[in-house]
Amino acid sequence: MGSIDHSPTPAPAGTDAGFEPSTDELLAHNQAYAAGFEDRGLQVAPMRRLAVVACMDSRMDVFAILGLGNGEAHIIRNAGGVITDDVIRSLCLSQRLLGTREVILVHHTDCGLQRVSEDEFKAELEAELGIKPWWSVEAFTDPYADVRQSIQRLLHSPFITHRDHVRGFVYDVHDGRLHEVTVDG
Ligand SMILES: [Zn+2]
Repeated sequence: MGSIDHSPTPAPAGTDAGFEPSTDELLAHNQAYAAGFEDRGLQVAPMRRLAVVACMDSRMDVFAILGLGNGEAHIIRNAGGVITDDVIRSLCLSQRLLGTREVILVHHTDCGLQRVSEDEFKAELEAELGIKPWWSVEAFTDPYADVRQSIQRLLHSPFITHRDHVRGFVYDVHDGRLHEVTVDG
């Protein structure tokens, strides 16, 4: 946003060719950010009492998509925006210690997890590393079905006690729109 020049060189996925670390450049961005810092004094508990669980996809600016500001919501992200044990951990803390009462799930079209096969990826890791992952890849084909699955997991978790306001959406990376997914259909 603003005056920051975003011009990284796109590199072929899965190779080191053309890779340059960004950290030093980003630290320079941080100096500019801190110079104009305006968020001092925000409370630790999110003002909207909202938690958002979203995919880590680099095309999704969750704050911009939902018109959120800092201090308003917890944003929990992972590959797929999947409800894993660690997301349950974060949501449990969010609800019990920091007062959130509403959950919004955001998955999206053209997700990286639609391009991977659960069994093949695990077999590949085991063949190369000699150890099979104990975690689930959570690959999927239909983002709408995946949101439905995530809502169900939330509703069935004993650690998520505030579940009256849980809604799920698929974000379309081609036009920026959110499409709501209901558990019934
Ligand atoms: Zn994704």
